[in-house]
Amino acid sequence: MADEVNRLMILGSGPAGLTAALYAGRANLNPILVEGIQPGGQLTITTEVENYPGFEHGIQGPEMMEVFRRQAGRFGTRFISGEASRAELRKRPFEITIDGKSIKTQALIISTGASAKLLGLESEKRLMGYGVSACATCDGAFFKNKEAIVVGGGDTAMEEATFLTKFCSKVTIVHRRDSLRASKIMQERARRNPKIAFIWDSIVEEIHGEPKTGVSGARLKNIKTGKTIDFRADAVFMAIGHKPNTDLFRGQLELDELGYLKVKPGSTCTNIDGAFAAGDVADRVYRQAVTAAGTGCMAALDAERWLEAQGE
Ligand code: NAP
Repeated sequence: MADEVNRLMILGSGPAGLTAALYAGRANLNPILVEGIQPGGQLTITTEVENYPGFEHGIQGPEMMEVFRRQAGRFGTRFISGEASRAELRKRPFEITIDGKSIKTQALIISTGASAKLLGLESEKRLMGYGVSACATCDGAFFKNKEAIVVGGGDTAMEEATFLTKFCSKVTIVHRRDSLRASKIMQERARRNPKIAFIWDSIVEEIHGEPKTGVSGARLKNIKTGKTIDFRADAVFMAIGHKPNTDLFRGQLELDELGYLKVKPGSTCTNIDGAFAAGDVADRVYRQAVTAAGTGCMAALDAERWLEAQGE
């Protein structure tokens, strides 16, 4: 495989990568898809997905990604498990190193996603998808008339907390300082909401609960006084930011100030011809499965046209 030059490689196996593979496969590009460290992407750490059109009664996140994968596989996608550790985009064909092996490709679709930042607690990992979530849009509706904690003090935390009040009877924002980073307008919206309360200067030390029964609360520590409390809650939403998975491309592809890949407006083209970006890796705003799938489709069409123009 080392000397073979592939026409198209896709990095990442979330909705963007698998949709790109589906379209590219149907265009006879015989794409090679590298699954990455989290095959299936962020949806594999959520439970039920109710907001992806076409699944009327909802579907489990991991199962949905299995369906995506099978559909992409039907049209000739070649899957490689492993992670890209190096990308050389300054020469042609591009050379991508996967688990120590260099693979050549004419065109590249980057759909490596973004990872929600997490606190790094063992209990957080154990209860992820069972009351711990990093996406209120995805999981908020499961907590009707329940009480939730939102961790963070930025725009995402304000937005997620405000959104959660549509379902939850009470939302408590736990922030590690005594002032918010969020924009004034988002702060005001949250502060004015009677269902939202704040706990300041506090961090989450542990999340209580079991996967079978869900989250039952969290131990919070006031970092000024050192005092800890056990706070009752049915869900804990992490809203401490996202990190786009773009380290590999730093210095070659243009990134915005938060590290997301920049694309030419209305397209998935990056600053290097033949390299395209789709999904959360280039989206700091919407970050939904359906928008990722949409840009995955765009990237495959952009790549197909580009390859055609090269006579490849
Ligand atoms: P952010 O602005 O980086 O805020 C992250 C928040 O999480 C901060 O309050 C930070 O605390 C806290 N935090 C970080 N690590 C933590 C840890 N380990 N433990 C506890 N708390 C921690 O991220 P974001 O809110 O996701 O926003 C990202 C970008 O998207 C921003 O530019 C934002 O304006 C934009 N955005 C815009 C909208 C909108 O306009 N509708 C909505 C969402 C996001 P400190 O404050 O102490 O650092």
